[in-house]
Amino acid sequence: MERTFAIIKPDAVERRLTGQILGRIEGSGFTIRAMRFEHLTRADAEGFYAVHRGRPFFRALTEFMSSGPCVVLALEAPDAIRKWRDLMGATDPAKAAPGTLRKEFGSSIERNATHGSDAPETAAFELGYFFRGMDLI
Ligand code: GDP
Repeated sequence: MERTFAIIKPDAVERRLTGQILGRIEGSGFTIRAMRFEHLTRADAEGFYAVHRGRPFFRALTEFMSSGPCVVLALEAPDAIRKWRDLMGATDPAKAAPGTLRKEFGSSIERNATHGSDAPETAAFELGYFFRGMDLI
């Protein structure tokens, strides 16, 4: 079993897509191990995306991610990191494969509906950023 960290981003929550995305998560065989609504501050978003500091889209991205509530999740499945990235699809919804969440629910490269950790080290950092050990038992 493996765990990964996921976000239903503010664009998807605002468009009332939370239920549909949670349905796709469970329907794809993930167990939701922890979940809550979180309205990030700008500083929270900057800390989370610290690896992207210096990128041209950093300011817009952190503004967007702190613009409204999102849903943060710990997901568990065999090969969860790769499996969740596959279900999300490519970063840019226009390039994402049919049937992926970003293709279906994303509206731009920035407002792309979901986030997912890209490696075991980032999953560990991101899960720890939002959840206490006690939440993840
Ligand atoms: P991910 O791992 O697929 O989420 O992609 P990245 O780690 O490269 O980027 C993180 C997030 O930044 C993406 O999910 C988008 O929300 C946003 N992003 C990525 N590239 C761009 C871009 O070129 N322009 C803007 N405005 N946002 C971007």
